[in-house]
Amino acid sequence: MHRNLALLICLAIPAFAQSPADLMKDPTVRAALDAARRNEPATLDLQARICEIPAPPFHEDQRGLELKRLFEELHLQDVRIDKAGNVIGVRPGKSARPNLVFSAHLDTVFPEGTDVRVTRNGDVMKGPGIGDDCRGLALMLAVIRALDEGHVQTPGTITFVADVGEEGLGDLRGMKQLFFETLKGQIDKFISVDGTGLGITHIGVGSNRYKVTFKGPGGHSYGAFGMANPIQAMGRAIAKIDAFQVPKQPKTTFNVGRVGGGTSVNAIPFEAWMEVDMRSADPNALKEIDTKFHAAIKEAVDEENARWNGRGAVSASAELVGVRPAGQTAKDNPIVQTATAVSRAMQIDEILREGSTDSNVPMNLGIPAITISGGGMGAGAHSLGETFDAKDSWRGTQRALLLAVSLAR
Ligand SMILES: [Zn+2]
Repeated sequence: MHRNLALLICLAIPAFAQSPADLMKDPTVRAALDAARRNEPATLDLQARICEIPAPPFHEDQRGLELKRLFEELHLQDVRIDKAGNVIGVRPGKSARPNLVFSAHLDTVFPEGTDVRVTRNGDVMKGPGIGDDCRGLALMLAVIRALDEGHVQTPGTITFVADVGEEGLGDLRGMKQLFFETLKGQIDKFISVDGTGLGITHIGVGSNRYKVTFKGPGGHSYGAFGMANPIQAMGRAIAKIDAFQVPKQPKTTFNVGRVGGGTSVNAIPFEAWMEVDMRSADPNALKEIDTKFHAAIKEAVDEENARWNGRGAVSASAELVGVRPAGQTAKDNPIVQTATAVSRAMQIDEILREGSTDSNVPMNLGIPAITISGGGMGAGAHSLGETFDAKDSWRGTQRALLLAVSLAR
């Protein structure tokens, strides 16, 4: 009697109220989870194959075309490539919303001409980009395939995206295109799969990067003595930057990473330059340090010119060479709660962390977003000797699958 009553109550609970642990018992979800595990060897083969298609920064097109073909082969709908080069495919749910975007990045940090062949030794695969982010791409395809094989029908829609421009000077251009143009106003939740392990990134560290150039007429060190000096002006600026006080929480940082300029020991230089990187997970803290930075440059130039009474006046210009917006998805946000519930249901230790990933863009817009890692164990990301240890990597695939099903409602 009681049992029947409990069953009735269970059936009456709408689909969106199901916990990840409940969903694991759903026969279609169970079938998909089984398929994900069974297919893992094929997923690893695919991971190696995708990785052998070069995808240098700003040249992801060849790998993108292969992803487009695979999206079509796996029966996604409305498969297309947007203006930036993002490859998009839709797995419709019972309704169009909520729309969950599930993404992994196409690009690598390796320049054109890099030997991208993958070698394997037991569980360990080796090749540039094998974990970051060939793992994410292969895992995304594995999730699509498993959903298909399990005949899982989600209440909401999942839009899969293989995106461009995640790394370095790519400056998240794929995500900016996706959120500001291609799918503007149509994304309710966002997950990206990036790298290896089983972590969950819910804090998006933003950064502003500048190249600052100081210029003056320059002249002979002895003959023209008495002129303002661009390198000395830059020295003043660096001393001011070095004295910045920054909050520990949220962690906010600055770094003068490279300097250059001048022509000779006996010449007043006509030019000097420096590259500066500032980071924070808090958009306001980042804005604040950015303002201080611009003030420091201006003060340094003014002081240098005043010191030499305006002889051979120095000027400076700061060129923004990189912006990654900051943001975070709070720990008590349902998307983070769901992700930790999924991990718990699968006996995976909860690891919450911060990072700089594709999720920065939605986090900055206040759209619930997290980045999860793709299972297995990686080493040497961004190096030619990058490795991926595939031991138990199916757990990463299953975790991502259950998370996608839990969020697409
Ligand atoms: Zn990555």
